[in-house]
Amino acid sequence: MFEKILIANRGEIALRVVRACQEMGIRSVAVHSTADSDAMHVRMADESVCIGPPPSSESYLSPLAIISACEITGAEAIHPGYGFLSENASFVQMVEDHGLTFIGPRAEHIRIMGDKITAKETMRALGVPCVPGSDGGVPDVETAKVIAREIGYPVIIKATAGGGGRGMKTARSEEDLEIAFRTARSEAKVAFGNDEVYIEKYLEKPRHIEIQIFGDGKGQAVHLGERDCSLQRRHQKVLEEAPGPVIDAETRARIGAICADAVAKIGYSGAGTVEFLYENGEFFFIEMNTRLQVEHPVTEAIFGVDLVREQIRVASGMPLSFGQDDLVINGHAIEVRINAERLPNFAPCPGLVKMFHAPGGLGVRMDSALYSGYKIPPYYDSLVGKLIVHGRDREEALARLRRSLGELIVDGVDTTVPLFYDLMGEPDIQAGNYDIHWLERWLAQAYA
Ligand code: ADP
Repeated sequence: MFEKILIANRGEIALRVVRACQEMGIRSVAVHSTADSDAMHVRMADESVCIGPPPSSESYLSPLAIISACEITGAEAIHPGYGFLSENASFVQMVEDHGLTFIGPRAEHIRIMGDKITAKETMRALGVPCVPGSDGGVPDVETAKVIAREIGYPVIIKATAGGGGRGMKTARSEEDLEIAFRTARSEAKVAFGNDEVYIEKYLEKPRHIEIQIFGDGKGQAVHLGERDCSLQRRHQKVLEEAPGPVIDAETRARIGAICADAVAKIGYSGAGTVEFLYENGEFFFIEMNTRLQVEHPVTEAIFGVDLVREQIRVASGMPLSFGQDDLVINGHAIEVRINAERLPNFAPCPGLVKMFHAPGGLGVRMDSALYSGYKIPPYYDSLVGKLIVHGRDREEALARLRRSLGELIVDGVDTTVPLFYDLMGEPDIQAGNYDIHWLERWLAQAYA
């Protein structure tokens, strides 16, 4: 087992990894920009290294700064958290070339899944159901028209290099297609430096269901059921729950086995998420994330496992500490993302947190790097906390969410907490009756 791990991230996820290290008796090294000298992850880790100025491109996204920090501190392994360098295959290669261990999958698997067309082709060949669409990139509008006619409108044009919901455009008819195609292309060029796009059938009312998998890197893998992440704004998740309100045990076992078998066959190592759109009882693969997800705690809650500990164990060469039969669902968990944002427009709202009080009690987990007197810097993501509740069933989890939202105090900056209060009162939310467009529709009315 490693003696010292460097965490190449900040905020709540850096704390999450520090906590796992502490429980495993591993020393932790935090890295931080000059804007984060007073951040909680710096205070909680055993050691810290300043790696650069505030912009992420010169600090948290700088491979050389991070590898140097490992060399200075003698850390043997790097946990990337999510975002930043977590899905950067050349960084992983560089880490390995320096004789360090990357806590995550092999560079080759990150590369395959980072290119959406290759990911889809690979998954289809491994028996995973995919959204109907083009086989590979679409070179021009004329080809796009031919494919769209075949699969039928509406269609969605997506960037091969896409991520974070950018570079996607829908077309409801041939007249829309030309402009959608060109816009998706130019957006993709600007956002990713790669203008390759592909076409998929646009699903009208799907849910976003994702399967958590875990591979041992030696040809064995398990699944840890699904998360329903359909409540989204601008393709960004807002609330996640596990198990999914519309997935039964048989469906879970079937799609879970397909995903676990697929990743086992490629020798995948560590945590990963296979994302699907789910409509009329059918699953359609959209992408695979080769890292720990923001919403991993709902899975941890219902299975009673520590996914970060497992990532560290597997990266050090140890076997998985659970087999498929050991993984039994207990109750229901819901996570809400607390962002420092001002409603109704969700404008980022950094600044001084005059007072922070985290909720507690049975079945409540608050993952946050906030503290009273902390100044949220304006340079990074607006996620400042995740409130995760666990109950015997969905109803109890919802009651617990409402109760714990009432205990939470973030004074000084605006947050998305009021949104969750409003959502709790909605019959569709209480009934688990929502698709990926529900929240946008609701926001257009409620916050008009
Ligand atoms: P990104 O990597 O940018 O997040 P994804 O492929 O994961 O892109 O898609 C993000 C979201 O976009 C999905 O959760 C869904 O809301 C929407 N979306 C993507 N593909 C389709 C599709 N074929 N039909 C309908 N909605 C889609």
